[in-house]
Amino acid sequence: MRLTFLGTGTSYGVPVIGCRCRICSSPDPRNNRCRPSALVEVRGTTLLIDAGPELRMQSIRFGVAGIDAVLLTHAHADHIFGLDDLRAFNVIAGRALDVFASPETCGEIRRRFDYVFKETQAGGGKPQLVLRETVGRFAFRGVEILPVPVMHGSLPVLAFRIGGLAYVTDANLIPPGSMRMLEGLDVLIIGALRPRPHPTHMNIAQATEISRLLAPARTYFTHLTHDVEHAEMEASLPAGIRPAYDGLVIECGDPPAG
Ligand SMILES: [Zn+2]
Ligand SMILES: [Zn+2]
Ligand SMILES: [Zn+2]
Repeated sequence: MRLTFLGTGTSYGVPVIGCRCRICSSPDPRNNRCRPSALVEVRGTTLLIDAGPELRMQSIRFGVAGIDAVLLTHAHADHIFGLDDLRAFNVIAGRALDVFASPETCGEIRRRFDYVFKETQAGGGKPQLVLRETVGRFAFRGVEILPVPVMHGSLPVLAFRIGGLAYVTDANLIPPGSMRMLEGLDVLIIGALRPRPHPTHMNIAQATEISRLLAPARTYFTHLTHDVEHAEMEASLPAGIRPAYDGLVIECGDPPAG
């Protein structure tokens, strides 16, 4: 199993429009962060986690050749406003794409992308999406996927576990039952935002504490703001925790066939 970080930035992206801070003007490409998204390839199946507004450029930049299904964590703009770009992947696949999300997120998608789900004139290109409401463990093409409920302020959102890998972003609280669902990980990917606290996201200290409690072999921080300088963060984190960056590829053992 292989995961590629397509984006590791927070909702503004880094650089932030109009900002001249040292991170936004850094020559290190690892300080250049698109909105958060990841690609998981497992046994010939490619899953996209979240579809942010830069999906087209991310797909071109990292040579994404096809997508078989989409997993959505929640319906905030930085995670879904690239859904229209899935048109290109419909053409490649020659079919509609399954989009797995919570019933609440599916409802938001139907409202915000109403044109996708109603009759319109022929010729107006629009994505062909089949919303799949997920409430518990499911399998797609033999790949078992476990949605893990976490809290993003007062908004319930989903993390996803596939075998020994979990992707947890936009959370400030992981309930005890969900912590148990994240035991025994090889790779934990978790949103860590910035040093300062935030009402709906974990900061670096809180994400570090979650990593300590879950004790995965490797932890990667994502959803990072322009308060985070890559090399400085890398040097300051405990062993086993690294900041992710756009284009980083990590390998992890295949999950058992579902
Ligand atoms: Zn977000
Ligand atoms: Zn900045
Ligand atoms: Zn969010």
